[in-house]
Amino acid sequence: MPDARVLDAALWPASAARTDSGEIAVSGIPVSQLVEQFGSPLFVYDEQDVRTRARRYVKAFNTVEVPTQVFYAGKAFLCTSIAKWLTEEGLSIDVCTAGELETALRGGVDPARILFHGNNKSNAELERAVEVGVGRVVVDSLVEIQRLNQIAAVRGVTQQVLVRVTVGVEAHTHEFIATAHEDQKFGLSVASGAALVGVEAVLGADALSLLGLHSHIGSQIFDAAGFEVAAHRVIDLAAQIRDEFDFTVSELNLGGGMGIAYVAGDDPLDVDQMAQAIHRILIEQCARVHFPVPHLAVEPGRAIVGATALTVYEVGTVKPVELDGGVTRRYIAVDGGMSDNIRPALYDAEYTVTLASRDTDAVGVLSRVVGKHCESGDILVKDATLPADIAPGDLLAIAATGAYCRAMASNYNHMPRPAVVGVNEGKASIMLRRETLDDLLVLDPGATL
Ligand SMILES: *Cc1c(COP(=O)(O)O)cnc(C)c1O
Repeated sequence: MPDARVLDAALWPASAARTDSGEIAVSGIPVSQLVEQFGSPLFVYDEQDVRTRARRYVKAFNTVEVPTQVFYAGKAFLCTSIAKWLTEEGLSIDVCTAGELETALRGGVDPARILFHGNNKSNAELERAVEVGVGRVVVDSLVEIQRLNQIAAVRGVTQQVLVRVTVGVEAHTHEFIATAHEDQKFGLSVASGAALVGVEAVLGADALSLLGLHSHIGSQIFDAAGFEVAAHRVIDLAAQIRDEFDFTVSELNLGGGMGIAYVAGDDPLDVDQMAQAIHRILIEQCARVHFPVPHLAVEPGRAIVGATALTVYEVGTVKPVELDGGVTRRYIAVDGGMSDNIRPALYDAEYTVTLASRDTDAVGVLSRVVGKHCESGDILVKDATLPADIAPGDLLAIAATGAYCRAMASNYNHMPRPAVVGVNEGKASIMLRRETLDDLLVLDPGATL
């Protein structure tokens, strides 16, 4: 496949386009200009694209028939500007640590619109959540139900909760695995009866109020088949709760995991198709056991921000490596790597890369884009066809790095983490500044000169 000079709209931020000189610009700003101003590597988010996708999600999912609250999964990428943009567009936010909670609060998110997740929230985290009045805590174990009940009781408040249940469904892309039992750290299993025990504990806890049930089945899911099995099992549980405890849950949170395209040919359902499929499933499953359709909640992370950003890197070295059979692979090394995008190393994730800073007529050659870390597995794009004339100083762009890249960034090899900028209407502003060596050294009491 030749280097895609035409930017596939399914992969790149909405306003990304080639200029007359063949350079990529986002919101009209050439990437070379962004790198000059903010350095490289650089994450570039298209603000309007973030807002548009958020709006589209709310519009598609929140209907009169199935009122739905859309929570953005903050773990995908959270900073105050993202929190602000998304809440302005009608989203709520889910967080799973004190750090994510504090970021959302400082981004001006109404605590009532925050949902707090996690399988091992600390007392301090639960206390802070109750203190600021988060709308929902998703309880994940019997120990936590007791803990949260005590914390809320001491404050004299009633905390609304969902019970996280596991339904034995693990979904990914076009496949899902459905088993009776679930061998994982999250939630309380429906099949073993633990979920029902958890629900009973919440119903018996004076300072807790049960809103509903929560299930999250996977990530990078392209169709709704896994959600169907999950909803079937959760609605069965809801009916059982009604029959045994005479209590009707009013909210069902089906989690996130809606997939996006990373490379040409990835074909996830679009948001309208996904929303319609999930609504249909919910209505059918409720009808099956004569259960009133509860309020729905979903928690997309990747689907909101994944495609709205790209990463710009500068090429440092180019090295031909001879393979068997006379084939040569060109290793193109850039100034970042697994510290700003761990997903290829961690999950064999695939990405789309292109020469971003200029035009070229050069033929495409087999290339591998690698980082600068001391690991041979420090690969960003394993197999790419890139122009033969790529040279040090060129800029490359990798598409769809808006989710789980900066969020999972590390300081491996004492690399300062890259800056994140947002572009909108031809203007760029810092969302997160680049770390400096001083930011790293300040942690080391022996590092003073
Ligand atoms: C990770 C996660 C999400 C978001 O997943 P995406 O794949 O980014 O949509 C939502 N809910 C829960 C509970 C999660 O753990």
